[in-house]
Amino acid sequence: MANKKFIIGRDPKCDYVIFDSKNRVSRIHAELSIADEKIYIKDLNSLNGVFVNGIKVQSNISILLTKKDKLTLSYDYPVDLAHFHSDSDDHTKVLQHGIEIDGKHKHEFGVYKDGQKTVVFDRDKTQIGEMLQMDNSPFVTIGRGSENRIVVNDTNISRNHCCIRMLTPVMIEVEDLGSSNGTFADEEKIIPNKRHQYTSSVQIKLGKTCALNLKDIFPDIQILQRKNLTAPPAANFGAAITKKESEMFFELEDIWKEYIDRQNKANNANIGYSIGGSILALAFTGFTGGVGTALLAGGGGILGRYLGQQASNKIRNDLTYEDAFLQTYACPRCKESFQKKPWITVRECLKCKIKFR
Ligand SMILES: [Zn+2]
Repeated sequence: MANKKFIIGRDPKCDYVIFDSKNRVSRIHAELSIADEKIYIKDLNSLNGVFVNGIKVQSNISILLTKKDKLTLSYDYPVDLAHFHSDSDDHTKVLQHGIEIDGKHKHEFGVYKDGQKTVVFDRDKTQIGEMLQMDNSPFVTIGRGSENRIVVNDTNISRNHCCIRMLTPVMIEVEDLGSSNGTFADEEKIIPNKRHQYTSSVQIKLGKTCALNLKDIFPDIQILQRKNLTAPPAANFGAAITKKESEMFFELEDIWKEYIDRQNKANNANIGYSIGGSILALAFTGFTGGVGTALLAGGGGILGRYLGQQASNKIRNDLTYEDAFLQTYACPRCKESFQKKPWITVRECLKCKIKFR
């Protein structure tokens, strides 16, 4: 393996960016270097320090690490050394910046290129709104002008009409670029020059007539199916469980398993914490290839299910992975959360008294 240096920190210029909204990690926190197949860590005068196996190391001194060492930034921000071991060439694992389109509808995701970065998230604390500030996700511009990624020959469409970004396989962001006839989301005209987030089931129109098919624009997108949970009619209180409610209850087993699986991964600091363990994992696995295929197959997991249950396609930005789990892992009738009670032990809802088994 060639000798390499990775600067780790919150600053987007770092090679390994920690997306830490709580600022526990410094902008320029540490330097991880690989020389003659040995890995060294150096604390670059960070505010909260670098810990190896729980012990704070001295600043500005290179410390030799083994694969088994647990490397932690600040108090509790584990770094997965596997990321640094696994890459045998100059490509680091990272988010993808651009997309390429040959013609109108073809493009590719998940190509690793030089200069890309690894970005890791806190699985519990990072909120969607914070994540959205990072512009790493693929986007397309749409308009009549030939400079757009997608060119639409229609006089109702402005030269530079709108920009759509795929934030996650189940979330998009739309910005109207000050078009004459506007951009509509679910028949509602959106405020121009401002970014709006929606679930993938939103219907986007340029002007009043030109409906977009998101699947054509982003082949990797997963169009959420909206599920409207039954509201709790008063008469239903204490009534026997319906077939639909029963099905919904049994679906919760998968939600529970996914949650536990992620917790376990996250607890094992050196494996899978970063990209695989976060709500945002879901988020970005579509572009990093590999890691996320299984998650994607599940329709976006907990987050997808949560978003699919919302009455509106507009996305709340203050959602964390934990929130999504708690709100999704809930009684199908009254929506009371089962909190973290193991699925196998849930026999009835303590609030509405519905019996599940
Ligand atoms: Zn209930």
